[in-house]
Amino acid sequence: MYDYLIVGSGLFGSVCAYELTRKGRRCLCLDKRAQIGGNIFTQKYDNINVHVYGAHIFHTSDERIWNYVNSFVPFHPYVNSPIASYKGKYYNLPFNMNTFYQMWGVRTPEEAVAKIEEGRKEIKGEPRNLEEQAISLVGREIYEALIKGYTQKQWGRKCTELDPSIIRRLPVRLRFDNNYFNDAYQGMPEDGYTPIIERMLEKTDVELNIDYNSNRDKYRGIAKRVIYTGMADALYDFKFGELEYRSERFEHKCFNIGNMQGVAVINHTDVTPAYTRSIEHKHFEFWKSDPNDKKTWVSYEYPVDYKETGEPYYPISSQRNLDLWNRYADLAKKDGIILGGRLALYRYFDMDKTIINALELVRSLE
Ligand code: UDP
Repeated sequence: MYDYLIVGSGLFGSVCAYELTRKGRRCLCLDKRAQIGGNIFTQKYDNINVHVYGAHIFHTSDERIWNYVNSFVPFHPYVNSPIASYKGKYYNLPFNMNTFYQMWGVRTPEEAVAKIEEGRKEIKGEPRNLEEQAISLVGREIYEALIKGYTQKQWGRKCTELDPSIIRRLPVRLRFDNNYFNDAYQGMPEDGYTPIIERMLEKTDVELNIDYNSNRDKYRGIAKRVIYTGMADALYDFKFGELEYRSERFEHKCFNIGNMQGVAVINHTDVTPAYTRSIEHKHFEFWKSDPNDKKTWVSYEYPVDYKETGEPYYPISSQRNLDLWNRYADLAKKDGIILGGRLALYRYFDMDKTIINALELVRSLE
């Protein structure tokens, strides 16, 4: 008998497996996909690590977590500086002095603040939705060019129907600084994310291509406890109703060209094209660059309804969904099933937070 059955071999499940096996516990990990790693899975095409389920850039302000990930594989310093493409022009992201200069021709922080203040006057009182929040952060012009179309594509809803908190993830900076993140540590693993997960699962039994929810009877009693990282509603056969998710479809394309976009991430902020981002993976590993290499892999990210792919990516945080999730979480608690990770907890987590949560969970067990 195993001590733990871990459902899902993504980052949360794998950190749990690693820490539990280190404590001498026996673990079995199931995954419904044909490979480990959940959405941080990377696969080599033409010697380039492709982020198959969307780009992941590791960043944290927590030195312990930085040291923790580096203990599995070395990380290379990497600064995410995406470019926004709008109507044939390029702008720097996140919103910073470079963007303000490109948009308004302003050269000093004082001039930029004056422009932002002027735009902000349009919004009276607390912002009630994402549109109002965006205008109050950067004014209408930047909202229309760099936020409106992108956000509408990303969420499949109008900005006036979305929660203001979504846009508060992005920094607004009065410095000429295109670093997308504010964290003290940021980097990319030496050879993609998959080797990290492989090392974490070294001492765990892993079964792939197993959908736990269609095989619950088979695994009943196989372990003393269950750590479940899948969809909370699926665990209970959607008996109270379905949670909503936003999904993504990725088109991975190979081009016979050494360098296609000159940057890893381009955000396409107009309503067309239908994809939100194009990712040229080799730029995530710029230290490997070979001038004779004449191939590149670019992924196009299309946000789509969850029903289209059956792959849940982003939880949609409405009151209805949160209330529903709480009902499923209550059931899991009664059944002694531990829920963890982005899907099961129905919350958006960055990778560092996912690791912190897994470490805390393991510490709290026995
Ligand atoms: N966003 C935007 N324009 C951009 C990038 C982001 O309007 O060029 C908005 C969009 O609403 C998105 C949110 O900011 O959902 C959070 O962006 P982030 O880059 O954190 O999205 P993630 O990487 O989590 O998909």
